[in-house]
Amino acid sequence: CGIVGYAGARPALEIVLDGLRRLEYRGYDSAGVAILSAAEIAVAKRAGKLANLDRVLAEVEDARIAAGTVGIGHTRWATHGGPTDRNAHPHLSADGRVAVIHNGIIENFALLRAELEAQGIEFQSETDTECVAHLLAFELAVVPEKGAAALAEAMRRVCRRLEGAFTLLAVDREAPDAVVGARRNSPLVVGVGQGENFLASDVSAFIAHTRDALELGQDQVVLITTEGVEVTDFEGKPAEARPYHVDWDA
Ligand code: GLU
Repeated sequence: CGIVGYAGARPALEIVLDGLRRLEYRGYDSAGVAILSAAEIAVAKRAGKLANLDRVLAEVEDARIAAGTVGIGHTRWATHGGPTDRNAHPHLSADGRVAVIHNGIIENFALLRAELEAQGIEFQSETDTECVAHLLAFELAVVPEKGAAALAEAMRRVCRRLEGAFTLLAVDREAPDAVVGARRNSPLVVGVGQGENFLASDVSAFIAHTRDALELGQDQVVLITTEGVEVTDFEGKPAEARPYHVDWDA
């Protein structure tokens, strides 16, 4: 349904929640965020409207969540698994290293899930999405790259195995200044700021902060950090995203 990602110097939580609010034009089943802070990932998620998530966040008053400057957020339109807290995104890998949010449907998830379960992974949700978190963790353990480059390469490797329609965002606690995104048959746009960058399913999520956007092409992976934006295809070849300026009011 709605997807927002932020990498910058300001507290991510407010920017991500505000982005989700601006995308609140359709009904949805749950809302959740993952915020990176001090090389840890903190997740808060809840079934129902954003107001329910706001209440959880107010109760926990987690200083790390409030301070982190990199994060992702999601509102879910359930396709696989009921509209519960557990099935709410983000989904974590078993080791807690990676958090993932997803719009769309991963058609071959049953096969991927069976393969992961055979390797001893215990799933926490009924979603098609969760397999992506575990696959990313497996790839991160073997890719030669480090940090943000490793996260982008792991995402490319995972995307090559996925069928269906997806916008994916992920954060990795070992890449504390980065958010990676990927898309196939589902929208993802980049907001290019100064010392901060945004990802979203729709520009309305970030036009309060920047009106310089990049529209990703089909089968592309994008890495945003505070410093910049890198786009490749699923094979790792540098790719062009279409730059444009948003000049309408939302
Ligand atoms: N298929 C995923 C799920 O059911 C993502 C749904 C969405 O697009 O929000 O959790």
